[in-house]
Amino acid sequence: MQTAEIRRRFLEHFATRGHTVVPSASLVSPDPSLLFTVAGMVPFIPYLTGREPAPFARATSVQKCVRTLDIEEVGKTTRHGTFFQMNGNFSFGDYFKEGAIQLAWELLTGSVEAGGLGFDPDRLWVTVYLDDDEAAEAWHRIAGLPVERIQRLGKKDNYWHTGAAGPGGPCSEIYYDRGPEFGPEGGPLVDTGGDRFLEIWNLVFMQYELTDVRSKEEFTVVGELPNKNIDTGMGLERVAFLLQGVDNMYEIDEVAPVLRRAAELAGVTYGKDHEADVRLRVVADHVRSGLMLIGDGVTPGNEGRGYILRRLLRRAVRSMKLLGVEDATLPELLPVSRDAMSASYPELATDFARISSVAYAEEEAFRRTLTSGTALFDTAVAQAKQAGTPSLSGEQAFSLHDTFGFPIDVTLEMAAEQGVTVDEAGFRALMKEQRDRARADARAKRTGSVDVLAYRRLLADHGPTDWQAYETLRTDSR
Ligand code: ATP
Ligand code: MG
Ligand code: MG
Ligand code: MG
Repeated sequence: MQTAEIRRRFLEHFATRGHTVVPSASLVSPDPSLLFTVAGMVPFIPYLTGREPAPFARATSVQKCVRTLDIEEVGKTTRHGTFFQMNGNFSFGDYFKEGAIQLAWELLTGSVEAGGLGFDPDRLWVTVYLDDDEAAEAWHRIAGLPVERIQRLGKKDNYWHTGAAGPGGPCSEIYYDRGPEFGPEGGPLVDTGGDRFLEIWNLVFMQYELTDVRSKEEFTVVGELPNKNIDTGMGLERVAFLLQGVDNMYEIDEVAPVLRRAAELAGVTYGKDHEADVRLRVVADHVRSGLMLIGDGVTPGNEGRGYILRRLLRRAVRSMKLLGVEDATLPELLPVSRDAMSASYPELATDFARISSVAYAEEEAFRRTLTSGTALFDTAVAQAKQAGTPSLSGEQAFSLHDTFGFPIDVTLEMAAEQGVTVDEAGFRALMKEQRDRARADARAKRTGSVDVLAYRRLLADHGPTDWQAYETLRTDSR
C-alpha cells in the first residue's frame, strides 16, 4: 500500500467518524519556543492545555515533523527519520480512552476492502501505564487482546505531561511484532531496542490535573480534569514500511527512489556493505528533510533552523563524496525526492524552482569552501601530528565552522579519517559564546514575552533542538 494511500485512509477513517480534517502546520513550529514541529499535537497545544477553547470536538491530521534529536539514529535503526509524518486523531473533551482504543483498533485491523489497514491482530501488542487498569481492560474487551500482549510500563515510557503544572496522563502504545527473525519473544517490555516489536502508534490520555511537577517521573496528581483530551500519533513511515514489506522506513515508496539514485551515482549495490548502506540511508533521509524544510521556508544559515538545514544538506553532500561521488549531487537527488513526495505535497512541485535554487546554492557554497577548508584542515592536522599532539584545538574546529562553514560533524568525520581527535569541549564553549552573544542581541531587540510553560516537556524531550542535535549528529557513518 502506497504511503499516500495510507495517509488517505487514515484521514478518511477519522473524517467519517466525526473528525475535522486539519491540514498539516508548517515544519517551522507555530510557536517560537520550539524550532520545529516535533509532533502532531504541537499545533493543538492551546486546546489541549485548555488555554483556548477548541473550535472542534474532534480533529485529525497528518503532521509534517522534524526531530533533530533522532539524527544519530538515522540509517542505523529501521525507524527514525529526521523528517517524518505523524498521523493523529484528537478529542477535546469528547471521546476518551475507550473511544481512542476502538478507533485505532478498527483502522489497524479493519480489512483493506473495507478501508482499513489490514494488520494481523495476532501480531499487535500494546503497552499501558502501570496502574492504568482502565486502558488494559479496554484493550482486552474491545480488541480482544490476550492479557499477555498488554504490557505495563512506568512513567518514563507511558506517561505524558507538559513539564509544568497542568494536564497530564498515562499513554498507551501499539507495537507490531515483526517476527522471530528480528529478536526474542517477550514483547516491547523485553525488546527495548525496538527491532522486533516496532512502535507504531502512541495514544495519550490527558486525564489528570498535575501539580508540583519536578521531573518526567516526579509530580503530584491533584485530581481529574473536567475536560479529558485524547492526543494520538501514528508514524506514517513506520506503518508504510510494514505494509510495503520492506525492511525499514528508508525503503518505502516516498524515500527509496532517492536511495536507489544515490546508489546508482555511487556505483554501489545497496544491501552489500553495511557502512555504505547506512550512508545511502542517511543521504535519502537528509535530502528529503532538506526538501521539506526549504519547502516550508527555511533557508540555510549559521543559527537555529537554518543551521540544522545546513547540516542536513552538507552531511548529505559529504556522505555522497565518501561514497565516491565527486560531482554535484543535489541536482541529481532533489528532483527524485520531489517526485516521490509531491503526490502528498503538490506545492513541492510548483515551488521547486525556488526550493532547488536554495539547495543547489548551498551545495555549491559548501563545495567551494570544502576545498579551502580542507586545505586549512590538512595544515592543522599536519601541525598537530608534527607537534606530537594529534588533536585539533577548539579554535581550529571553530574557525573551520565559522570561516569555511564546516559543521562540526564534518570536521569530526574528517579528523577520524586522519586518526586525529578534536577538542569538542573547546569548540562547544566557543559556539556557546557566539550563541549567547547572538541571543543577547536578539533579546534586546525583541519586545513582549512568550508563554513557554506548555512546551517545557517538549523541550525536555526534543530540544533545545538547535544545540542538542548539534551534539548528537556526530557519531554517524564512521
Ligand atoms: P521511538 O521510541 O521509536 O523513538 P517515540 O516514542 O519517540 O518513538 P512518539 O513521541 O511516541 O515516538 O511519537 C509518536 C509516533 O511517531 C511513534 O509511535 C512513531 O510511530 C512515530 N515516530 C516518532 N519518532 C519518529 C521518527 N524519528 N521517525 C519516524 N517516525 C517516528
Ligand atoms: Mg523517540
Ligand atoms: Mg517510544
Ligand atoms: Mg512513543
